[in-house]
Amino acid sequence: MASDRLSHEMNDFPILVVDDELENLRVLELTFRREFKILTAESGEAALEILNSEPVAVILSDHRMPGMSGTEFLARAREMAPETVRILLTAYGDAETLGRAINDGSVYRYVAKPWDADEMRVTLRRAIEYFAMERERDGLLRELGTVNQIARTITQEHAPDRLNDLLLSSLTDEIGFDGASLFLYDEAEQTLTLERSLPAGDAVCEATLGYEIAAAGAPAFIGSVLRGESQRLEVADVLSYETPVRIWVTEVAADQIVVVPVPGKEGLLGAIAVDNRCGSAALDASKRVLIEGIAAQAGIAIQNARRIEELRQSRLQIVRADRLGTLGTLAAGLAHEINNPLVSIHTFLSLALEKRYEDDEEFWGEYLALAASEVERIRSLVATMSHLGRVGRDDVPLAPCDLGEVVRGVATLIESEATAVDVSISLEHLDGAPKVMGAREQIHQVVLNMMLNAIQACEPEGRVSVRIVSENTGGSLFARLEITDTGAGISEENLERIFDPFFTTKGPDKGTGLGLMICHRIITDHGGTIEVASRPGQGTTFAIRIPV
Ligand code: ADP
Ligand code: MG
Repeated sequence: MASDRLSHEMNDFPILVVDDELENLRVLELTFRREFKILTAESGEAALEILNSEPVAVILSDHRMPGMSGTEFLARAREMAPETVRILLTAYGDAETLGRAINDGSVYRYVAKPWDADEMRVTLRRAIEYFAMERERDGLLRELGTVNQIARTITQEHAPDRLNDLLLSSLTDEIGFDGASLFLYDEAEQTLTLERSLPAGDAVCEATLGYEIAAAGAPAFIGSVLRGESQRLEVADVLSYETPVRIWVTEVAADQIVVVPVPGKEGLLGAIAVDNRCGSAALDASKRVLIEGIAAQAGIAIQNARRIEELRQSRLQIVRADRLGTLGTLAAGLAHEINNPLVSIHTFLSLALEKRYEDDEEFWGEYLALAASEVERIRSLVATMSHLGRVGRDDVPLAPCDLGEVVRGVATLIESEATAVDVSISLEHLDGAPKVMGAREQIHQVVLNMMLNAIQACEPEGRVSVRIVSENTGGSLFARLEITDTGAGISEENLERIFDPFFTTKGPDKGTGLGLMICHRIITDHGGTIEVASRPGQGTTFAIRIPV
């Protein structure tokens, strides 16, 4: 089959014949010129010149020539044009040189003189077939290399737009097609839509972007693509095409367009189209194998990119759900927190209307005071919330901040509170730790909240101790502030909830349940962490780490 196809093309493979005897050259030329393309040279030197300027497939050289011998010439020809198939014409007695020439690869085979025309014909045909096969194999290997290289590049790109660009530019820049387009297939609509094409800025690309070829209008074309068949469209045949295809082919106005399906695991992903719209050489059949290889790789890359995008989206959704969850909890808690005092304020106001002329001492005394304190409670809640909104904003000034100083300030502030419930405060190791960069006000608030929590957790005669140490974790330096109390501790189930907004185990006039949430927010904004270790009945340690 292969030789059949090649036999028509023998003329495409020039044979260079070298012999110092003109007569021999003439005979050979006359015998074979109808069948092969024969070039002749009378010396090795002249033959090398021809080799330099013209493509040659087969070289047939006499051995015994004055000047450069046949084997010498073929050795040099091998260096200049290694792809040529070299045959030596030998007489008796050349066996030794011939053996050497064959061994070092200069000579493919030899023909003994005098040669027989039929045998020579067979030899020359075989040589040409061998040459053609080698060339095809080299071409395939090169293409395989190109496909591999393109596959490596595109499968590493996960952003769809950049992936499409990479894919198309490898078809235009690396393989040299004038134009390249990517269609994506919509299974529900049974439509191929032109997603992107190159060269960018080309009028054709702009005009055809978003062009749709639907199965309804082009059932044969889409059917072919769905069956995984490549198609070659020619502008010359345009009248025989289905209308949507005809419009597109006319618009591209290339002599030829090759359309290759891009397969996916669960069905067609789309199609790649390449063309010679700028008048480059015809797209021959061998290129089709190359494009099909690239299309298969493109399918893998596109599918990967889609999976990664799906993963990214679902992760975004989880994060969003998380945030919405927190917001929801916060809003629900806030509504609850404000609603309770509002109920008593509302009750008071509606009763006040009736009692405005009455001299009800209890009402105007206790109830009024209660309503006023409820208003105050809402006010302070709102103040806390608005503070929460400010936390973490960029306009909070950051400055080197001495944690030891902050702790001493807080301790002075809450001393009376601690003494009132008979809790002692002991400050250890406050100095020596490096300063942290932070918003002093906010860190003050954190320490205040935590030391108050600690005091409130203690029974009389309890103790709260605070210390600061430097900590080196993974090459980064942190200041670590530990607040330890001898209080009630935190049960395991509550440990998970203490940072939630409005989670509190304290009475309504004592705790809002917002303290630790705010602390957590401030510390994370500072790039730090909060850890809790607690043993119910024995006490709790909160540790804050802030990078220095
Ligand atoms: P609040 O102090 O207003 O209750 P926080 O957010 O500061 O709100 O604290 C939430 C809850 O965490 C407290 O109600 C308490 O149950 C628990 N908690 C915090 N610190 C301690 C501690 N040092 N010892 C025991 N429980 C604590
Ligand atoms: Mg608190």
